[in-house]
Amino acid sequence: MSELATRLSAVREGIADAATAAGRDVAGITTVVVTKFQPVSLIRELASLGVRDVGENRHQEAQAKARELADLGLTWHFVGQLQSKKARQVREYASVIHSVDRTSLVDALRSEESTVDCFVQVNLTDDPGRGGVAEEALEPLVQHVLDTPGLRLLGLMAVAPLDEPARPAFARVRAMSERVRRLAPGASALSMGMSHDYRDAILEGATHLRIGTAITGNRPTPG
Ligand SMILES: *Cc1c(COP(=O)(O)O)cnc(C)c1O
Repeated sequence: MSELATRLSAVREGIADAATAAGRDVAGITTVVVTKFQPVSLIRELASLGVRDVGENRHQEAQAKARELADLGLTWHFVGQLQSKKARQVREYASVIHSVDRTSLVDALRSEESTVDCFVQVNLTDDPGRGGVAEEALEPLVQHVLDTPGLRLLGLMAVAPLDEPARPAFARVRAMSERVRRLAPGASALSMGMSHDYRDAILEGATHLRIGTAITGNRPTPG
C-alpha cells in the first residue's frame, strides 16, 4: 500500500471507531478530503482509492483543479473564506459551499437558474478574521439564506478554536444547530472536524468531516 492509502485507511478506521463510540451509523458521515496545496496527481490517487468528495479553500486553485480533473466526476466542496466577487465562479464547479458567513455573500450567490448546497459558517472565536458569522447574528443570516433563491441550506459549519478543547466548542455548534432547525427543519447537517479533532466532532454529531493532512500528509508550502 502507498503511504497515502495507509493514511486514508487509518483515518477511515478512526472514523468508524468514533461512529461506533457515538452509537451512530458511519454511513451518515461524509468525509471531505481537503486537498489544498496538493498536486492533482494526489487527487487522482485519492479518487482511485474511492474518495469522492474533495475540498479546497482558494478559488483559483480549486477552479483549475476541478477543470483538470473533470473526468473523475468528483464532488467539489469549497471550504475557505470566499470573496463575494468570486462567488458566481465558485458556483460553477462547487457542489457544496461550506463558508457562507455574511449577507453580501448570500446576495452574490443568488441564482434563479440553479441551486447550490451550502453551510452557514459560525465563528467560535472573538476574532472576525477567522471567518464565520458571530453567534448573535446567526438567525438573521440563516433567514436570509432561506429567502434567497439558488441556495439550499444543509446546516452549520465551524472550525474549532485553537485555544480551547474542541469537544465543548463542537457542542456549542450542535446547540446552535437546534436554533437553526426552528427556522429550517431540514438544515440538520454539521460540517465540523478536521485532522486533529474529527473524533470529537463525530461525538457531537458531525455529518461532514473536512480532513486534510491526516490523509494527505503534510501540505507542500504554498507557492
Ligand atoms: C485546511 C482546512 C481543513 C483541513 O485541515 P487539516 O488540519 O489539514 O485536516 C479543514 N477545514 C478548512 C476550512 C480548512 O481550511
